[in-house]
Amino acid sequence: MSFWDFIVNASYFVAAVLFIYGLKQMGSPRTAKKGIKLAGIGMLVAVVFTFFHPAIEGGFWHYLLMLIAIGIGGGAAYKTGKTVQMTAMPQMVALYNGMGGGAAAAIALVEMYSHAAFEHGFALIIMAVVGALIGGVSFSGSLIAWAKLEGKLDKSFRVPGQQIINGALAVLIVILGWSIVGSDDGAPVLVTLFFLASLIFGVLLTIPIGGADMPVVISMYNAFTGLAVAFEGYVIDNPAMIIAGMVVGAAGSLLTWLMAVGMNRSITNVLFAGFGVDDGAEASGPEGEMKSVEGFDAAASMAYADSLIIVPGYGLAVAQAQHKLWEFVQALQKDHGVDVKFAIHPVAGRMPGHMNVLLAEAGVPYDMIYDIDEINPEFPTADAALVIGANDVVNPAAKDDESSPIYGMPILNVDAAQEVYVIKRGKGTGFSGVQNALFFGDNTRMVFGDAKQVCSDLTSGLKQI
Ligand code: NDP
Repeated sequence: MSFWDFIVNASYFVAAVLFIYGLKQMGSPRTAKKGIKLAGIGMLVAVVFTFFHPAIEGGFWHYLLMLIAIGIGGGAAYKTGKTVQMTAMPQMVALYNGMGGGAAAAIALVEMYSHAAFEHGFALIIMAVVGALIGGVSFSGSLIAWAKLEGKLDKSFRVPGQQIINGALAVLIVILGWSIVGSDDGAPVLVTLFFLASLIFGVLLTIPIGGADMPVVISMYNAFTGLAVAFEGYVIDNPAMIIAGMVVGAAGSLLTWLMAVGMNRSITNVLFAGFGVDDGAEASGPEGEMKSVEGFDAAASMAYADSLIIVPGYGLAVAQAQHKLWEFVQALQKDHGVDVKFAIHPVAGRMPGHMNVLLAEAGVPYDMIYDIDEINPEFPTADAALVIGANDVVNPAAKDDESSPIYGMPILNVDAAQEVYVIKRGKGTGFSGVQNALFFGDNTRMVFGDAKQVCSDLTSGLKQI
């Protein structure tokens, strides 16, 4: 091993330690920021030392190309990362993720076109081919996911016989892939066809999926990208890529699984059922009347409660009401001595951790935030519960209506609280399209309006008491 080989490999080892330690730190909101910085430093170390890799040939022009690519990618990522809204985070993740899958597929293509992958034996050719497939699917699929979430693509686009077309394409991909593996040097035409088929497969797989299911799909493509990067790391013998790819692949798979469990759905159901696609059907559900109150009355009742549990949901994020909500909570605590807790459902919002990030942004201390298992036993003894922009995650049909599409999804037991206040704009359903019996309950009062405006009204209401 040459001196520079040793230095570069040592830097990759340092980068791998930083990736893994950073990921561990991301497990808690308290240390997540530090974890992201550490993983970023790890990536910087890996990128900088790669410039000294003895295998880089081609002199000045290759280094210049690398610098231009880093300048374009880094510059665009810095700008979008600084300005992105929290509600637009899923599509940004989709875009970055797609770029990672595309980069892995590009490496595979270069290795196959240049025949380099064929010089190191059967196993590496298979890895190059599988990496190209997964990376290609992740690239085109993530771009479709981005376009859907940005509202640039019809959210319910379906072709008749979609599953048959997908199945036929999958068979074609297997035949092409096997032909490449079986050939001595992989004819460029076969490689090109294989890559194009992978891209089309990613498009067809993603296009029928409802916009609201996209975060699960994005997380799945995230895992795909990690795997593709790891495979290509083996192909070009790059330990940093292997480790980073494995970490992303494992984390993405776990996240996809946790989201599916949180919604009580299987991945195949997400991919093939078209759940969450708005087909214009009328929402079904409980009959009866919702009883509404003004903000002042709701604020007065909550001020006289000893304990209050707040359940935030997607509507809080849309309204960006987290700061106004926190002002109201501080007034309840300081001026009225109310014991306030926040209850977070694992899939509240449109991506895992959505609510935690919003509340942290507003300054809510972590020790006021409880997850579903910790808080559910406390609802029966809570004087009041305040649901703000949440719907599916508090729908009792998940517990008692076997015919409901959300039956079996774990929910927050808000209906067990003595009094329930619900802030939402109107009678609209949530992501699942299912009406919510909680809103018709005897102990429930609706405070209609935009979450941010209602929170301001609640705080003003407290001042008048
Ligand atoms: P929901 O989508 O079920 O409900 C949100 C509610 O917010 C709506 O009923 C809407 O009612 C209300 N709302 C919207 N805008 C505003 C506003 N500006 N002010 C006040 N209220 C508003 O959200 P939940 O968080 O309860 O549930 C999340 C759902 O998303 C679950 O079904 C989950 O499975 C799904 N999901 C979650 C993912 C995740 O990883 N977190 C991924 C994919 C899907 P109205 O229109 O009347 O105002």
